[in-house]
Amino acid sequence: MPSTRDVIIIGGGHNGLVTAYYLAKAGMKPLVLERRPQAGGAAVTEEFHPGFRCSTLSHAAGPLRPEVAADMQLARHGLRLITPEVGVTALSPDGRALVLYNDTGRAAAEVGKFSAKDAAKYPEFQAALQKISRVIGEALKLSPPNIDDPSRTDLWGMLQTGRSLRGLGKKDMYRVLRWGPMAVADLMAEFFETELLRATIASRGIFGTALGPWSAGSSLVLLIHSAGDSNPGARRFSPKAAWARSPRRCRPQPEKRAWKFARARKLRKSASKRARPPAWC
Ligand SMILES: Cc1cc2nc3c(=O)[nH]c(=O)nc-3n(C[C@H](O)[C@H](O)[C@H](O)COP(=O)(O)OP(=O)(O)OC[C@H]3O[C@@H](n4cnc5c(N)ncnc54)[C@H](O)[C@@H]3O)c2cc1C
Repeated sequence: MPSTRDVIIIGGGHNGLVTAYYLAKAGMKPLVLERRPQAGGAAVTEEFHPGFRCSTLSHAAGPLRPEVAADMQLARHGLRLITPEVGVTALSPDGRALVLYNDTGRAAAEVGKFSAKDAAKYPEFQAALQKISRVIGEALKLSPPNIDDPSRTDLWGMLQTGRSLRGLGKKDMYRVLRWGPMAVADLMAEFFETELLRATIASRGIFGTALGPWSAGSSLVLLIHSAGDSNPGARRFSPKAAWARSPRRCRPQPEKRAWKFARARKLRKSASKRARPPAWC
């Protein structure tokens, strides 16, 4: 091991490893220090019982940028992402289940079992989300610009973002500006009448945050998540290594986010004195 290093990265989670990769690619000599016997952080695949391996924390690899995976040649090193046909299954207390397939037509047909009106709107929402999330995804790739003294690269990046925003066309550009600050519950109410569908999609606006569905800006969280996966129900990409060894015994778990949302809804109900009385919450 060389005695001098340019950068020391504490923690060999995926962020540390990706950072080390790009620093090394740029000609630097990074050193990654990991306290666990295995690198990977929360994205690690572990054997929790002889013969049983799965991702012990993260269950989805959607936010992994495809460019990063390609740069690092992860496929050549054995990574294969599996996309299940069903993005999310939301269970209803009345015994029914809403199954959102990744295929828009199949998903719309399932939505149609709850509401014909929503089934007609679903493809429109999906198309808008797909277009907008592409722009958000482009912006997420950029390093934050130096506002006081922007470099040429910063200016170029901002110009590119502006151009892709304009490329959306008037209707969707307006949607980006309007949706971003909105509460995700309001956004869903504009499109759909089925509470279960609203809750299922809106759950992505609060996932991984301390927000509730009526929090301002929760729609932006949905848009940011959509940059990794523009399906309203969110396709779940799972690293194959996570359950390849025992495919029948260690399948990805059904989506639980709709429950999280339902719980938030319950909590909100209990604080209903100060709450608005929305039709569906
Ligand atoms: C319950 C839960 C579920 C999640 N599910 C998903 C998901 O499905 N999909 C998704 O994309 N994201 C998910 N996330 C978020 C994701 O796990 C984090 O965004 C991601 O792990 C951050 O990666 P990281 O490399 O920055 O840190 P980590 O993955 O946390 O890695 C940090 C590493 O640093 C090491 N370390 C810490 N301190 C030291 C030290 N002093 N010295 C040496 N080493 C040290 C740790 O051992 C660890 O290996 C989830 C998070 C949680 C909490």
